[in-house]
Amino acid sequence: MVLSGFTFSSCKNQLEVDKTNPFFSEFDTPFGVPPFEKIMAKHYLPAFEKGMTKNREEIEAIVKNKQEATFENTVEALDKGGELLTRVSSVFFAQTAANTNDSLQNIEVEISPRLAGFRDEINMNPELFKRVKYVYDNSSKFNLNQEQSFLLENLYKAFVRNGANLNKQDQDTLKKVNQELSVLTVQFDQNVLAETNNYRLVVDEEGIAGLPESLVASAAEAAKASNLEGKWVFTTQRPSIFPFLQNSPDRGLRHQIFNAYINRGNNGNEFDNNRVLADIVRLRAQRAQLLGYKTHSDYVLEPVMAKKPENVLNLLNDLWSKAIPVAKKEVGEMQKIIDKEGGNFKLEPSDWWFYAEKLRKQKYDLNDSELRPYFKLENVREGVFTCASKLFGITFTPISDCPLPHPDAEAYEVKDSEGSHKGVLYMDFHPRDSKEQGAWQESYRNHHILGGQTITPVVTTVFNFTLPAGEVPALLNMDEVITLFHEFGHALDALFNQNTYNKTYVARDFVELPSQLMEHWATEPEVLNMYARHYKTGEPIPASLVQKIKNSGYYNQGFDNVEILAASLLDMAFHTLEAPAVVDIQSFEKEYFDKIGLIPEIISRYRSTYFIHITGGYDSGYYSYTWSAVLDNDAFEAFKEKGIFDGSVASSYRKNILEKNGTMDAMQMYVNFRGREPQIGPLLKNRGLISQ
Ligand SMILES: [Zn+2]
Repeated sequence: MVLSGFTFSSCKNQLEVDKTNPFFSEFDTPFGVPPFEKIMAKHYLPAFEKGMTKNREEIEAIVKNKQEATFENTVEALDKGGELLTRVSSVFFAQTAANTNDSLQNIEVEISPRLAGFRDEINMNPELFKRVKYVYDNSSKFNLNQEQSFLLENLYKAFVRNGANLNKQDQDTLKKVNQELSVLTVQFDQNVLAETNNYRLVVDEEGIAGLPESLVASAAEAAKASNLEGKWVFTTQRPSIFPFLQNSPDRGLRHQIFNAYINRGNNGNEFDNNRVLADIVRLRAQRAQLLGYKTHSDYVLEPVMAKKPENVLNLLNDLWSKAIPVAKKEVGEMQKIIDKEGGNFKLEPSDWWFYAEKLRKQKYDLNDSELRPYFKLENVREGVFTCASKLFGITFTPISDCPLPHPDAEAYEVKDSEGSHKGVLYMDFHPRDSKEQGAWQESYRNHHILGGQTITPVVTTVFNFTLPAGEVPALLNMDEVITLFHEFGHALDALFNQNTYNKTYVARDFVELPSQLMEHWATEPEVLNMYARHYKTGEPIPASLVQKIKNSGYYNQGFDNVEILAASLLDMAFHTLEAPAVVDIQSFEKEYFDKIGLIPEIISRYRSTYFIHITGGYDSGYYSYTWSAVLDNDAFEAFKEKGIFDGSVASSYRKNILEKNGTMDAMQMYVNFRGREPQIGPLLKNRGLISQ
């Protein structure tokens, strides 16, 4: 997942500039990273306000310019503006996602509608649009290079897509809709965080039977933190719930924690998201109609690779029809185990992880606790660094005197092969109550050129990985290892970008290519031999275990595909509704899954009331993971053909895709790299969705 910073926003009072506010001076820190330890909650609102005021003055100057509108005095000037606002926004929204508190949550509720209003003020500024349109209509006059043409075209379309061409009355309605949406999406996310933090499964000694040592140790620490010494506490955070589901033989307890997980935001309390989501869906449909689109999906998909809902649905439905029979086969295999054990019950969703693990052991002679000792967090991190060094020649040096976004985070300087500075990379690995679920990459600063000077990127990667517990270091499972490679792939995209301008336009369904491509290295035998070392003995992973990992490549693929496709289809179902789109969330979800034939043993990877992707920028966009998977599987073939560390393929990938992303048409970049358009065959083969 990748979060994009908010730019722009509205307010009239001129504030005294507070000299002690870190946002009001250049960041005097190593590499100009944000001085996190000096930034306090009270600094944000004044910085947002000053940022909006300054940006408003800059736009005023562009509009008042008596000279003919040109690329330089309009498009470039607009791109250069809003520097303070971008600076405060990027820090603020990164902190509310990874390190929030009550003060920040209150500021978020206050500032989000004001930022939405400010964006609308710019997007619907008729004088400004007139100048942008003039440059767009007369672009041949300005002798633009490819990057400039791409920026101009996208900027112009963004104005139109944000209401610049609407009449005054429709613009006012649109502004109102945007205001409401900005409040509701923040509320949705805050509710999910509260619901995740509010649940605790507290057990006595009999409740920890069968659980691995490291999970028991962290559950004991969680109990201690909640003043429940002598008990064990499990939560709905991924590193707690999923190992519990996988290992606990207590069917009742599994059912209990699973139910809490799948009903987050659906408990009829103050954090209930049913109404919030219904309103979001309704307002998005209304906005799409105002802007001349049939549905929100039509609106969202227009500027990305997929272009139309039909193209997305064709891909998803095709894979769905192939994945369901595979999942049914898996159900049959697990039911057999239950029956053989005299279980006398039918497999339910909360049983899946437990029996899937048994099946893995039975079929591939491989289990989770056998793997974890080889995936000590520090070793995996070194592994991904080594991969990047072998591919691109870059290096990673820990920075010791650098401000950190949170005391638990780590900072690295990234240098190119000849030693020049490329950027700063933060990594923040473990869950805490102040952090949202999931994993993501975000930039505090983008690569761009300002006044002839290269501004280098500052990027962060955020995870929710298994914690160290007592003497045991953080030992990751296979999913977590792959997630680390995934977010690191996003980080490489940001670090290698060579764009001139601050604003880039990355197609949402292309953005997962660099991340998902990186995942492929994680399980290659050659790479496992590099980084997977036993945390106690330092012994490399035995060849027999590597072979087992390889053999288990098709393990649980029916489930993995069905759960992610179900969520992708649900997202599309909500967002292909035509206005007024009034829905009862629970019955809509149920009827939809019945209609498409989701089997009762699997639930969607995200249910509606905690599906944070569809409020976090992946609305009508969750399919992107699958769309990009067609690309990444096809792209990895290019490496496999010549060797996974082949220098010429790596350098072509860097030059044609990573350096250009956001400044060129996605399909064009892909064709420049691969020599042809992407093909679906490698995806089907790698996921076991065609006969071998
Ligand atoms: Zn991602």
